[in-house]
Amino acid sequence: MGKPHMLALPFPAQGHVIPLMSFSHQLADHGFKITFVNLDFHHARVMAALRDSPTDCEFVRLVSISDGLPMGEDRNELGKLSRAMFSVMPGNLAELIGKINESDDDKITCIIADESMGWAFDIADKMGIRKAAFWPAAAALNALKSHSPMLIEAGTIDDKGVPTKYEIIKLSPTMPEMNTAHFVWHCVGDLDTQQTIFQCMIQTNQAMKGVEWLLCNSFYELEPSSFDLVPKMLPIGPLLAGNRHGQPVGNFWPEDSTSLSWLDKHPPHSVIYVAFGSFTVFDHRQFHELALGLELSGRPFLWVVRPDLTGGPNRPTDAYPDGFLERVADRGRMVGWSPQQKVLAHTSLACFVTHCGWNSTMEGLTNGVPLLCWPYFADQFLNRSYISDVWKVGLGLNQDSDGIISKEEIKKKLEELLSDGGIRTRASELKEMAKKSVSEGGASSRNFNDFVEWIK
Ligand code: UDP
Repeated sequence: MGKPHMLALPFPAQGHVIPLMSFSHQLADHGFKITFVNLDFHHARVMAALRDSPTDCEFVRLVSISDGLPMGEDRNELGKLSRAMFSVMPGNLAELIGKINESDDDKITCIIADESMGWAFDIADKMGIRKAAFWPAAAALNALKSHSPMLIEAGTIDDKGVPTKYEIIKLSPTMPEMNTAHFVWHCVGDLDTQQTIFQCMIQTNQAMKGVEWLLCNSFYELEPSSFDLVPKMLPIGPLLAGNRHGQPVGNFWPEDSTSLSWLDKHPPHSVIYVAFGSFTVFDHRQFHELALGLELSGRPFLWVVRPDLTGGPNRPTDAYPDGFLERVADRGRMVGWSPQQKVLAHTSLACFVTHCGWNSTMEGLTNGVPLLCWPYFADQFLNRSYISDVWKVGLGLNQDSDGIISKEEIKKKLEELLSDGGIRTRASELKEMAKKSVSEGGASSRNFNDFVEWIK
């Protein structure tokens, strides 16, 4: 008999591709065959980033479809991307599945799609394919999304998602507090983009009604109230399998592997790791302050300076403050993209200066690394509240009256963070909880096994 064949469809962004790729490898380990579908645009980047590494593994096949936008278009404009996806991708996906099912002995029998790609479930229904949804962000964010119709009814937001006033709310008495100003759809791009994203979320809520499985990259002990509020959502995290056996992680940029050999030269708990995920952009003034803050800390640091971190397409070597590169040459290392999951597991790490993307948050927690929070957009403000107010495994940074996080603030908060024994202890406790949840008998492990049984 052939292998059960699933099609995995991530939302087209780095922070969605990596965890679904991880999940796909985990499923492949359990005897599944996976066809992993990226946009043509991202597929080309993933392949280029792999360079000499394996481009495919036996049971996770990487393929792509078009989103209808020209190749040169900016996929970081989420409103434009979402509108394009809704219009052309359903047809392209149906065509791909049709072709595979004509030619492949193992027909696709299940689609596992990012919940934000809820339109794919209509296709699954039309083609008689089973459906499962994947949520790569906090369970609390899903709870917020699913409760958006109630928030409209209560007058907290209008029917376009705009908060009627900025206030602190709780979705249930045991849920963490949320600031309406930080609702995810309200923290992305211009008003037009915000409304497009909100509409997509409302449509997704509808599409989810007929979906039996909703699997979330979190663990129960981390967000019990959110999981209780959306009982259908099951934790299967932390998902960190993408880095095993040299399998492709799904990076959009090539990893600089010298990061690890550089870390090897440093004593335990000495290095500050600084990375802001795939979307964050800094203006030149803030970029300077960050560089000078790291210099002022007097500690060794590994800093991911993405080629487009200051907005332009090229690595911003000329954007560093005068003389900075020479002054920090013996203790600072800048790389374009790091093997982050491995970096965070390295014993030399002291702390992680992070934008609080959900994957970075989970990767930091799973390794017991204290976090210094610097959110940029979308759900990162919610994640920051979790880190600093609920789990208390990190600290936030404050802006000055010009909206800048100053070098002095960076130095001060790094010192506070690194001298806080309570934060380190709680970070270690969460690390153990994370490990338990994916070990035999843990809730995430049980949910994963139940899913595997269902699909078989
Ligand atoms: N990442 C990486 N190398 C880097 C920076 C980030 O491998 O230098 C990975 C990181 O491990 C995480 C993902 O990129 O899995 C970023 O996802 P996250 O949700 O943290 O942020 P986003 O990019 O969505 O803002």
